[in-house]
Amino acid sequence: MTEAAEAPLPTPEGAPGEGRPAPAPAGPVLGVFAHPDDAEISSGGTLARWAADGREVHLMVLTNGDRGSEDPALDRGELARTRRVEVEAASGVLGLASWRMLEIHDGELENTAEVRAEIVRAIRELRPAVVLSCDPTAWFFGNRYFNHSDHRNAGATTLDAVFPGAGNPHFFSEQLTEGLSAWKVSEVWLGWTNEPNHHQDITGFMELKLKALGEHRSQLEGGMLGFFEEWLPAEAEEDGKKIGVKHAEGFRVLNLE
Ligand SMILES: [Zn+2]
Repeated sequence: MTEAAEAPLPTPEGAPGEGRPAPAPAGPVLGVFAHPDDAEISSGGTLARWAADGREVHLMVLTNGDRGSEDPALDRGELARTRRVEVEAASGVLGLASWRMLEIHDGELENTAEVRAEIVRAIRELRPAVVLSCDPTAWFFGNRYFNHSDHRNAGATTLDAVFPGAGNPHFFSEQLTEGLSAWKVSEVWLGWTNEPNHHQDITGFMELKLKALGEHRSQLEGGMLGFFEEWLPAEAEEDGKKIGVKHAEGFRVLNLE
């Protein structure tokens, strides 16, 4: 099946701007996230649905997740190796076409030319119609949580890599000698946003989202999986109500065409 099988979604009520027609443009998808489990938590249902629809869905994780533990005795190199294995397993559950991980230390992601070059390279290689990341402007979620700097920097770096990076041959032009060429991304989808203008129906994919998250075992000690199993479906139900479906994920979608 292709994305044409997706039913058009109505404009979500109360969303800023005009909303947008669904479905997302045809073609590959590249998700770019800071930490090994960010894709599943923010957008796992959407990625799983697109993969099941026959889309080519790729994942790029920017840090190695080596500070994802509060145990001071845990070896960070060992944790990074564990998290690589977990990304591979979770990607398999989601049905992804490929995954890649950079070796940047957890908590040290910055919007630098080096990181932009890596994301631009992935975009030029995979030629995605849609790049999915997280909203870099989302600092505060209610009064209980503020966004991790790696999440904000992942979103900002990804946006800068999409434009004016990947589409302009004068950015990272050394890549052109490796057989890559400039590539313009049609849409950017930003999860973990306070300004969603689109809710993606993920009904039927909640279990897969939680199953993929369950592969990140190093992150699920102390009852965390139980927390996610309660919180994520509840959040997806709230988002689903906005478009009249059981489960949905909210995004700020930018159409760049
Ligand atoms: Zn994270």
